[in-house]
Amino acid sequence: MKITLKDGSVREYDRPMSAYEIACDISEGLGRMACLANINGEDKDLRTVIDGDAALSIYTARDPQGLAALRHTASHVMAQAIKHLYPSAKLAIGPSIAEGFYYDIDFAEPISADDLTKIEDEMKKIVKQDLPLERYELPREEAIAWAKSVEEPYKVELITDLPEDAAISFYKQGDFTDLCAGPHLMSTGKVGKAYKLLNLAGAYWRGSEKNKMLTRIYATAFAKKDELDEYLQKLEEAKKRDHRKLGRELGLFMTDELVGKGMPMFLPKGYTVWRILENYIRDKELAQGYQHVLTPCIGTVDLYKTSGHWDHYQKNMFPAMQVEDEMYVLRPMNCPHHMRIYANQPHSYRNLPVRIGEIAHDFRYEASGTLKGIERGRHFCQNDAHLFVTPEQIKDEFSKVVDLIFDTYKDFGITDYRCVLSLRDPADKEKYHDDDEMWNTAENALREVLNELGLEYTEEIGEAAFYGPKLDVNVKPAIGAEYTLSTCQLDFCLPAKFNLVYIDKDNQERTPVVLHRAILGSLDRFMAYLIEETMGNFPLWLAPVQVKVLPISDRFMDYAEKVNAALEDAGIRTELDRRGEKIGYKIREAQQQKVPYMVIVGQKEAESSTLSIRNRAGEETHDVAEDAFIKQLKEEIRAKAR
Ligand SMILES: [Zn+2]
Ligand SMILES: [Zn+2]
Repeated sequence: MKITLKDGSVREYDRPMSAYEIACDISEGLGRMACLANINGEDKDLRTVIDGDAALSIYTARDPQGLAALRHTASHVMAQAIKHLYPSAKLAIGPSIAEGFYYDIDFAEPISADDLTKIEDEMKKIVKQDLPLERYELPREEAIAWAKSVEEPYKVELITDLPEDAAISFYKQGDFTDLCAGPHLMSTGKVGKAYKLLNLAGAYWRGSEKNKMLTRIYATAFAKKDELDEYLQKLEEAKKRDHRKLGRELGLFMTDELVGKGMPMFLPKGYTVWRILENYIRDKELAQGYQHVLTPCIGTVDLYKTSGHWDHYQKNMFPAMQVEDEMYVLRPMNCPHHMRIYANQPHSYRNLPVRIGEIAHDFRYEASGTLKGIERGRHFCQNDAHLFVTPEQIKDEFSKVVDLIFDTYKDFGITDYRCVLSLRDPADKEKYHDDDEMWNTAENALREVLNELGLEYTEEIGEAAFYGPKLDVNVKPAIGAEYTLSTCQLDFCLPAKFNLVYIDKDNQERTPVVLHRAILGSLDRFMAYLIEETMGNFPLWLAPVQVKVLPISDRFMDYAEKVNAALEDAGIRTELDRRGEKIGYKIREAQQQKVPYMVIVGQKEAESSTLSIRNRAGEETHDVAEDAFIKQLKEEIRAKAR
């Protein structure tokens, strides 16, 4: 048989050979490094026997596919180590992921982060033994019998759920066998030394909160130690940006178990930033002809039955509560309230678009394991609006929303984002309003607008709202998965459900189209984003405390009071540090609090009626006149300088 290699060269063999054997034949080094084979365009386990002419590429850990195979093999080594240390632990699944791998495990007794070192040490032994991994298949009955005999109930369930015609394969290394489709490296030694167990998390079996919570051990592995070190260092950097950590240190928000999980509370400094965001976006919306309303964060179950949320969104909602003879729910979204406001008065084509906006409090049920500071809570505030338009106005209004989004991003310096056109999954009848024609119209309309705007975007199936397709603008946080910051959704569905109409030119009643849109998304999440992007160094216009006045000693307190009052009068958010601490201590603390400017007041300043200014970066300017400083601050605030 003829084997054509990546570089075009051809090798001939007179017997069937595994991809691994061929790799070794090409060169000893390649055999040693081999992680995965690509045979005729398909990624295959190295053990795959080739018995006819074929094109073959060998991947090493330098290739992403090869690295994934290495990481997945490391997850088997981790599982084996765990079974050595905790024989009663039950194994669920252990895939490789974008930045490493994990294994979900049901431990009889909870383990702690301290136990990870112990597991790592045991892994070292298994890697050192360089146990070969052997692959074999079993018929379904025997596979289930095996899983039962080793008391692995999750494996029994996995095998039972495999399709009828699936090959049921296992990989065995020394005293450990795992149900697995592969691919794997040839032996445990190939995993090498560049791996690290990172942290523990809770994860429901099969991702459903109805199932048992398992322990997920996150870990990673690389081809080389220096790559691992670089990754770990990046992770440390990311931790410093984590908005939960910074939010605590900077006194922006808190959470309190007694108040409730996922119910963050904004402290005075955090609420100051919040208020600036709220005012900022409300002013922008007013300039675009929005009208703002205030509606309750609760509604009857009937309201949500009318909108369809009850059928399509209930699992994200808090359970209903009975009051007298009515059932109420905390609202997950504000659309139904705004629909009813539209219906409160007659509309003509002449007064469309009607743009109803609200900074609205919403509640959603999020599984406790998925809660994450103010990025994902059970309560949050949406920068929501509903635009009621005629079909002819869709394009215009949509592009105005897109302008508003990117205008806003400019002010906040947001450049790292990704646009996604989120479409429905036509097969998912449970999640989506069932009306093929409506979906086709809406999806085509949206695609057309995006193309006309020349926006770069990717299409994603199954990400749409239940009532229509949407444009999502996604960003990636310091830690964790990408999320949506801004959204604009096209809806041909809810207005009809609420019997909304306007009188058209020909005096006929027509149904308006609704655009649901959020620019800052949820204010909570937007703030999480800002905290992580700036590492808490808010630009001056957003900083909760803009200036801190620091007298060198009590002797200069009068002058410090005078400076502080002048700043206050000029509308600057200023604080005077009246404590008797040493000046070095006061400066350090103001720096840790990431206050943009410090005004240091001592003998020289008091005598000459000037200021010494120190910025966050530690740069000092002396002999600054008070009014010049105020003028500079105002200019920086006006320009939203970063
Ligand atoms: Zn495996
Ligand atoms: Zn809405």
